[in-house]
Amino acid sequence: MEFVIPSPPIANAAIAGTDARFPVHRIYCIGRNYADHAKEMGAPVERGTPMFFCKPADALVADGATMSYPSATKELHHEVEMVVALHSGGSDIAEHDARSHIFAYGVGLDLTRRDLQAAAKAKGHPWDVAKAFDSSAPLSVLRPASDIGHPEHAQLTLDVNGARRQQTDIAEMIFSVPQIIAELSKLFELKPGDLIYTGTPAGVAALQRGDSWDARLEGVAELSGHIA
Ligand code: MN
Repeated sequence: MEFVIPSPPIANAAIAGTDARFPVHRIYCIGRNYADHAKEMGAPVERGTPMFFCKPADALVADGATMSYPSATKELHHEVEMVVALHSGGSDIAEHDARSHIFAYGVGLDLTRRDLQAAAKAKGHPWDVAKAFDSSAPLSVLRPASDIGHPEHAQLTLDVNGARRQQTDIAEMIFSVPQIIAELSKLFELKPGDLIYTGTPAGVAALQRGDSWDARLEGVAELSGHIA
């Protein structure tokens, strides 16, 4: 096929143990998936209906990268999250079948312009400018499920400049990974290459220029990064 301008590159992620890359189709995120974080945001703990939003695939930032401080915010917040990568998809996926679609796991940051999010919430506006901005999705190297299985208990931590900011066990999620996949697939046809950021625990706070982070999902992946 011929295009009238150069075709944009395919967003992609590194995979542990191979030089082959994971091509990224979409990035889905779930909000308020740990009760302690919902509480710190002053939001109700909803166990009925999950709340989803998206980021563009080209918002990814690779492990070890230095990024610029984003435009249009004075309150850039970190949210450390377990990330799931799908090798297959579908609609109306059953919870008991959901894990069969998972290729790999990783750890990422759902970076958030918290000041713009607060303004959007106050006006009933969408969250896109708060969540879906350039470089808003740092992501570790992905670790295939064929290596590590499907983690159900693992410590998820974030240190900023060597000090612990966030820590949980992923078992504390309100909606489990299979439940998230089942619910998302009712709303969207999931595709090979989709990533899902699975929510953050309490402790979200601001990142400043010059800060460095180390995120870790025990036994799965680590992610470092830096703001210039
Ligand atoms: Mn989040």
